[in-house]
Amino acid sequence: MNNIYKKYDLSDAVINLVNDASDELSETYKEYEKNKEINQIKVIHAMQKNNLAASDFYFATGYGYGDIGRDKIEEIFKDIFNAEDALVRTSIVSGTHAIYIMLASVLNYGDEFIYVTGAPYDTIQKSIGLVGDLSDSLMKKGIMYSQVELKGATIDFEALEAKISKNTRAIVVQRSIGYEFRKAINLHAIKDDMLKFKDKHPDIVIMYDNCYGEFTDSIEPTDIGADIIAGSLLKNLGAGISLGGGYLVGRKDLIELAADRLYAPGLGKELGLSYGTLRTTLQGLYMSPRVVCEALKTQSLFSYVFKKLGFDCTPEFDEHKSDIVCAIKFKDPDILIKFCKSIQKAACVDSFLTPEPWDMPGYENKIIMASGSFIDGSSIEISADGPIREPYIAYFQGSMSLEQGKLGLMIALQDLVDAGKISL
Ligand SMILES: *Cc1c(COP(=O)(O)O)cnc(C)c1O
Repeated sequence: MNNIYKKYDLSDAVINLVNDASDELSETYKEYEKNKEINQIKVIHAMQKNNLAASDFYFATGYGYGDIGRDKIEEIFKDIFNAEDALVRTSIVSGTHAIYIMLASVLNYGDEFIYVTGAPYDTIQKSIGLVGDLSDSLMKKGIMYSQVELKGATIDFEALEAKISKNTRAIVVQRSIGYEFRKAINLHAIKDDMLKFKDKHPDIVIMYDNCYGEFTDSIEPTDIGADIIAGSLLKNLGAGISLGGGYLVGRKDLIELAADRLYAPGLGKELGLSYGTLRTTLQGLYMSPRVVCEALKTQSLFSYVFKKLGFDCTPEFDEHKSDIVCAIKFKDPDILIKFCKSIQKAACVDSFLTPEPWDMPGYENKIIMASGSFIDGSSIEISADGPIREPYIAYFQGSMSLEQGKLGLMIALQDLVDAGKISL
């Protein structure tokens, strides 16, 4: 077993540490295997229920009115998410785009929306108007923003209730941790409160940023009362196979609004070409439960090992999972940068490149990003990133195979040992 890793410059101590740690997590891994099975059957069943046919892979031209496969993918997403309708498009370029469509399609002048999981993900902040000075941000257009901080690991429903006004039109839950050192939102834990909230405020739209959350659990936000959710096909559901795109799933009236926002009022979701991406989108969806399972195992392994080495990590290796991100608090910019460089070396694509911190569009601080991926920027593939700001936290995610995750961890540990930053 150890011999194969000798292809890399790794000490026995590093190889053994990672192999042993992975063996010690076998019970934890079993939980993810069970979850994989549930989600895999969901996917297969939805494809069968909708009579997915070989002919669905052909695609239309022009306006795309007859893009049957595109419509079928949306039916399949709808069923998987237990929702009324879905919008799954390659013309949605990223998670940020999908989330912006969700916000901008529902919210109008004078409406207020409340983020109930603290500050939103960095790239959405500009669109909202919290940073920067864009003349077409939501806030510049007369939409009011407000925020409720998390209470420990969960949503503070009391504080939320106190914030509700006659203008409140929507609340937003960000399921995954973003660039914060916190817990992902456990859907089981908020279910009862969320359903009570929905009962009490039927006119308030419950939205989720579902990025990195898909298939990490047996349920999705739409199973606990979400009206509309948004996410990216460059993450969990793309499985490193989808060429790109984003999705929204939820109430029929809201999906119609979202399609009108994506295209033009009145056009709706009847048109929009899929440009021959249908097969890869479906293959990505099919592989997703399995790939997410590998990412969850890798997440636990990183958390387990770095905690052993004395670094604060979230989530804990054996905690309930609701996203695929492992945040490691390095408290040292050198370690953060070194760590990302090491992860890059474990990629299949661009393993010979060295990431450096840079000013990425949409982000306030310099960001370092390790991402050597088959699909450019796809972060279900082994990747790590972090803003260069205190306390220098690395956000590690993905790996489509545990084996590659282990390799990445070994390389990172060896590089940190060699630099005198850790000792085993
Ligand atoms: C990745 C991510 C986004 C944004 O997705 P992009 O595809 O990078 O635009 C938004 N929210 C969360 C929580 C994310 O993890």
